[in-house]
Amino acid sequence: MERYETHEYDVVVIGAGGAGLRAAIESSHRGAKTAIVCKSLLGKAHTVMAEGGVAAALGTLDPADSWKTHFVDTLTAGKFLNNWRMVEIFCKEAPERIYELERWGALFDRTPSGQILQRPFGGHTYRRLCHVGDRTGLEMIRTLQDKGIHQGIDVFMETTITRLIKDEDGRMAGAFGYVREDGRLILFRSKAIVLATGGLGRIYKITSNSWECTGDGFALAYEAGADLQDMEFVQFHPTGMVWPPGVKGVLVTEAVRGEGGILLNSQGERFMKRYDPEKMELSSRDIVSKAIYLEVKEGRGTPHGGVWLDITHLPPETIKRKLPSMWEQFHKLADLDITKEPMEVGPTTHYMMGGVRVHPETQATSIEGLYAAGEVACGLHGATRLGGNSLSDLLVFGKRAGEAAAEYALAMRALPKLDRAQVAQEERLLLAPFEREGGENPYALHSELQELMQERVGIWRSGKALAEALKTILRLRERASLTSITGARMYNPGWHLCRDLLHMLDVAEMITRSALERKESRGSHTRDDYPRPVDDPWGRVNLVLRGERGEMRIRQEPVPPMPPELWQLFESQNQNQNQNQNQKKEEPVKHG
Ligand code: FAD
Repeated sequence: MERYETHEYDVVVIGAGGAGLRAAIESSHRGAKTAIVCKSLLGKAHTVMAEGGVAAALGTLDPADSWKTHFVDTLTAGKFLNNWRMVEIFCKEAPERIYELERWGALFDRTPSGQILQRPFGGHTYRRLCHVGDRTGLEMIRTLQDKGIHQGIDVFMETTITRLIKDEDGRMAGAFGYVREDGRLILFRSKAIVLATGGLGRIYKITSNSWECTGDGFALAYEAGADLQDMEFVQFHPTGMVWPPGVKGVLVTEAVRGEGGILLNSQGERFMKRYDPEKMELSSRDIVSKAIYLEVKEGRGTPHGGVWLDITHLPPETIKRKLPSMWEQFHKLADLDITKEPMEVGPTTHYMMGGVRVHPETQATSIEGLYAAGEVACGLHGATRLGGNSLSDLLVFGKRAGEAAAEYALAMRALPKLDRAQVAQEERLLLAPFEREGGENPYALHSELQELMQERVGIWRSGKALAEALKTILRLRERASLTSITGARMYNPGWHLCRDLLHMLDVAEMITRSALERKESRGSHTRDDYPRPVDDPWGRVNLVLRGERGEMRIRQEPVPPMPPELWQLFESQNQNQNQNQNQKKEEPVKHG
C-alpha cells in the first residue's frame, strides 16, 4: 500500500511552458499515457511572458532567408560552441513547427497579403521573428494548451517535483514532490520523464525571469547523475527596466530595438557605433549588454544607472500597435509614456544557454529514460542565444523529446521498480525544516545568494571574485541545510523556498565552477583576467559537469566536428554578404 498519493504514467513531463506542452502533445499523440506537472497554474508558465517573437526562416518578407542563413547566424552568435547537429535540425524544422502552430490556431501578425509577418532582431541577418505584437508567448501558450487539453493530457498544477527517482539499475522510474495547495506529498511512477523546467534567473538579484525560474531542472538532473554542459554561459539581456526599484530587471523586449529603438548614453551619444558600427542596436545581446555595462561604469550612465532607449521618433500609434505591452508596462509601472519619453534600461539576467546535455536527435540525457527540452537543455545556443531562438527551440525540441520519450516508454513492458530509499530520503529532506527550531531564515539566505551571484558571477567576472563566490556558496549550502520554518504545509512559500534554495545553490555552484574553469572571454562569459577569446582549447571544447561521489567534476569535451558541407555555408554566406551588403561576418574557429 502506498503512503503517498501515487500516479502511474508512461511519460511524465515536468514543466508546462512551451517545451513541456509541445513534448506532452507529442507523447500523448503517439499513444503514451502522459501527464504534465507544473509549479504554477496551467497557462502561467514563464513562456507566457515571451514578447518579441519566435524565429524561423520562413522568408516571408526576405525571400533570400533560408535555414542555411539561420544556421550561420545561430552558430556565429554561439561562437561555434553549439552542437552543429542541433542547430541544423532546429533551423530546418522551425518553419514547419510555426505552420503547425498556425494550423492549431495561433494568430500571428500578418503582412497585407495575409502571410506571417516577421520582424528584425539582434544577430539575425534577415527579418525572421514571427510575432503577435509583443505578446508572442501568450499566443503560443494559449494555442499549445488548447491543443494539449483536447489531446487528452492529464495536468497536475501547482505541483513541485523535488527529486527524480531511479530504479536500482539507474534508469528513470519516477518523480517525487509536493502539492502546493495543501503540502501533501505526491509520487509519479513512470517509464520516462521529460524535464522542461525552464531557466534559473531567480538565483540572481536582477532578472527578467518569473518566480518559477529557480533552476530546479538543472539541479534535479544533477542530483540524478546526469551530465550538464556549459553552465558558465548565462545570458544578460541588455534591456531591463532600471527604475523604479520595485520593477528593476523586468524585461524591455528587444522588439523595441527591432522596431527602430536607439540606445543613447547620458551625453546623448548613440554609443553602439563604438561597439558594433554595422549592427548597432541589433548587435548580439552579449555585445550590447557589455556596451551598456561599460557606458555606465565609465560615467556615461543615466540617473538610475542605465542608458536611454528611445523610440519617440516613431509615430505614437505605431508604437502602441507594435509594442502594446511595452507601452502599458512603462505607463503602469514607471508612469512614463514611451511615445514621448525615452526608457531607462540596463542589463538583466535573462536566459541560460548551458544546461542538461542531450542527444541532438532525441533530447535523451545521459540517464536512461530521462529527456530534456527547452531552456533547461543545452547544445543549441552555444555561448550566446539569439533572441527568438528560444521559442522555436521549445517547439522543435519539445516535439522531439516527446516523441523519443513516448517511443522509449511504449517499448517497455512494465513500469520500472522504484528505489524506495530515494523516496524516503527526499521525504526526510523536504519535511526537515518543520522539525528544526530557530534555524536559518530561507529568505535571508536567498537574498544573500542573489546579491553574491549578481556581484561576483554576473556580467563581468574575474578569477578572484569567482573563487571567493565559490567559497561563499559552499558556506551558504551548509547554512541552507539548517533552515527552519513555521506554519502549516498548506501554501507555505517559506517551506517551498527551503527546498528551492538547495537547488539554487547547486546551480550557483555549477555556474561558478564552470566560469572559473573557462579561462577566456567568449559570448556571454566575460572575465577581466582573461579578456579575450582563447581558441586553443576554449574555442574547441564544451565544459561537461557531473556529480561524482558528492563532488562536482568538470571535464572538457571536444565540440562535435562539423561536416565540410556545413562549413561551406559560412563561406557562401560571407560571399553573399560581401556582394549584397559589403558586410563582414565573424570568422569561425574550425574544430574537428
Ligand atoms: P518555462 O516556460 O520557463 O516553463 C517551465 C515550466 O516548468 C513551468 O511550467 C514551471 O512551473 C515548471 N517547473 C519548473 N520547476 C518545476 C518543478 N520543480 N516541478 C514542477 N514544475 C516545474 N524567447 C524567445 O525566443 N522570444 C522572445 O520573444 C522571448 N521573450 C522573453 C521575454 C521575457 C520577459 C523572458 C523572461 C524571456 C523571453 N524569452 C524569449 C525566453 C523564453 O521565454 C524562455 O526561454 C522560454 O519560454 C522557456 O520555456 P521552457 O518551456 O523551457 O520553460
